[in-house]
Amino acid sequence: MRHYPESMNRLIRSFCKLPGIGEKSAERLAMYLLQAPDQEVETLARNISELKKQVNICSTCFSLSDAETCRICRDPSRDARLICVVESPADMVAIEKSGGFKGVYHILQGLLSPMDGIGPSDLRIAELVKRVAAGNTREIIIATATNIEGEATATYIMNQMKPYHTHIKVTRIASGVPMGGELKYIDQVTLKKAMEARYDF
Ligand SMILES: [Zn+2]
Repeated sequence: MRHYPESMNRLIRSFCKLPGIGEKSAERLAMYLLQAPDQEVETLARNISELKKQVNICSTCFSLSDAETCRICRDPSRDARLICVVESPADMVAIEKSGGFKGVYHILQGLLSPMDGIGPSDLRIAELVKRVAAGNTREIIIATATNIEGEATATYIMNQMKPYHTHIKVTRIASGVPMGGELKYIDQVTLKKAMEARYDF
């Protein structure tokens, strides 16, 4: 890195902080941008600086959104009585890509992990209970990973749903999802089958 001017080193160091980018890739990216048309570089810089300003969290499901509520929550063709509970926006995207799910989502923004000091109040579980308590929900599909944290989170949510068991169904996706499997790494066909083959929890 000492061979480059300091402004370039700063950019390389910034790239190195990105997931999956090592020093070699960072150098290649910086070199690419140096030679790219001004407009392309300016667009990239603008997109990066506006990301944090423009991307909001949906006030209903807590997924990423460019408005107060996200596109899925606003879509009248989606069945709002069917809520799929996932760990992260990436998991929601994985289920959307697998196709076939016509309900809505609830993004927990993490999983219970006492070892890391993550408890129920760090997740959007109270908000989920509030959504269910407001009525209309017919089924909660718990689509968290099948690892220890995912199972613990699923069990905790199931217990929270007990007062509502008379009018809602709580199901868990599993079939086809390998033990320890994280949703976002599962192929679309397997994920679609897992959603369809959910069982009463
Ligand atoms: Zn939403």
